[in-house]
Amino acid sequence: MAQFDLIVIGGGSGGVRAARIAANHGARVALVEEYRLGGTCVIRGCVPKKLMVYASRFAQEFEEAAGFGWTVDAPRFDWATLKTRRDAEVARLEGIYRSNLLASGVQIFEGRAVLMDAKTVQLSNGEQHQATHILIATGAKPAPGPAISGNELAIDSNGFFDLQALPERVVVQGAGYIALELACVLQLLGAQVTVVVRGEQILRGFDDEMRQHLAAEMAHSGLEFRFGREVQAISRKDGALQVQLDNGDTLPADCVLRALGRGPNTKGLGLEALGIALDKHGAIPVDAFSQTTVPGIYAVGDVTNRVNLTPMAIREGHAFADTVFGKTPRSVDHALVPTAVFTTPEAGVVGLTEQQALAQYPRLDVYRSTFRPLKATLSGHTGKMLLKLLVDRDTDRVLGFHAVGPDTGEMAQLVGVALQLQATKTALDATLAVHPTAAEELVTMR
Ligand code: FAD
Ligand code: NDP
Repeated sequence: MAQFDLIVIGGGSGGVRAARIAANHGARVALVEEYRLGGTCVIRGCVPKKLMVYASRFAQEFEEAAGFGWTVDAPRFDWATLKTRRDAEVARLEGIYRSNLLASGVQIFEGRAVLMDAKTVQLSNGEQHQATHILIATGAKPAPGPAISGNELAIDSNGFFDLQALPERVVVQGAGYIALELACVLQLLGAQVTVVVRGEQILRGFDDEMRQHLAAEMAHSGLEFRFGREVQAISRKDGALQVQLDNGDTLPADCVLRALGRGPNTKGLGLEALGIALDKHGAIPVDAFSQTTVPGIYAVGDVTNRVNLTPMAIREGHAFADTVFGKTPRSVDHALVPTAVFTTPEAGVVGLTEQQALAQYPRLDVYRSTFRPLKATLSGHTGKMLLKLLVDRDTDRVLGFHAVGPDTGEMAQLVGVALQLQATKTALDATLAVHPTAAEELVTMR
């Protein structure tokens, strides 16, 4: 049995950052990972997903090139080539995560970890190790969804990354980030995609106008939505799948992709025996410094179900390590979160939605611009961009930014800086435009 200052359970975004920073502060650190270093983001999330998004967008680029004088003869796409190259890149990144941890002096253990008591961790090979502090950074996994007949015939986002070929007809269940991003990838690569949404609109919780605009753009590009519908059963018939909806309709499919949210990885960790009560979603409750109710045990990232994004897991892991081992206590602001949905077109967002802003700031000014970007004039693309700013009339403060269109994720990052600096509309107006860009609308909206 080895002794450490910190044992981190989970080698994903939050765990790896915490382990490295704690080690840099002089702590003796071990990290246990049961699958692959890098976690969800690197192995089967953000990174391979974004590579697939890039791959899919070439389809549009080839089509639009003709308007600029190019002749692109019948482009052909090879799934196997993309998968091999994508998987190789993921393996390269995994290697970098490993070498960075080792270079920081972190001892890596492979296997599943279970907590025996507040200071002891047991690995799947039976070894036990102790530490004065334990950080749980075990992330989340795809939710199984309701127990419908034939549920096992559907794949989740992990299965998406294992697909060996592009399915011809896909039914996607869900209308969150994952459902929509992967639906767009599959559709642009050539699949016929139907998205089954239980609500009346996609992306619950986002700005209503942005949701409507994005859904209309996605439908316009050929994706089919079935709103207000749920999948009741999935069956296999003559080699194909049949998806039965609650209104009696049956959709034929070659692949059913279930993207109905994610649940924290807390099962079988030994938390209950330690007296850590989970919340109703199965997540670990923590305070502003990521401390659980048991002294010495902390948790960061998706397992705490606060804001389930990679940069947040990283920030929570870093703040934990600075607080506990760097003598600089720091909490994390979960309020102002720039984010992008990497659909095509993509959506970039930061700050309050119009509905949230109106509830707090009744004298709200809404500035919006819907327009065809310059490139579309020759490419022939008929989609429109949306850029929307919410401003409190009393203080002139910009409260929210919601956008749909090319590169709006990149814009959300920079508008996030402006909102962090408490930018006013006057300050945006005083900023000179970069011309010709789509982002210049931000400083020219009157
Ligand atoms: P994880 O990265 O999930 O790491 C947890 C690790 O713990 C895993 O490696 C797991 O194997 C390991 N583990 C679990 N239990 C044990 C145990 N008992 N013992 C040992 N090891 C264990 N976020 C973004 O910001 N941008 C995006 O574009 C984006 N795209 C995404 C796309 C997809 C398809 C998915 C699924 C997620 C995406 N996310 C994105 C979310 C992002 O991946 C997560 O928020 C982030 O990875 C959370 O980091 P984490 O450290 O909390 O957990
Ligand atoms: P989300 O929580 O974003 O979306 C879940 C979707 O499933 C919602 O549309 C929800 O509908 C629907 N749903 C849930 N239960 C059922 C049910 N029983 N029947 C029918 N529909 C159901 O989860 P995701 O899995 O898409 O993504 C998980 C998280 O990962 C995201 O929230 C985000 O934090 C992160 N992520 C971030 C990305 C990014 O930054 N670009 C990309 C991918 C993931 P309803 O609205 O009605 O509840």
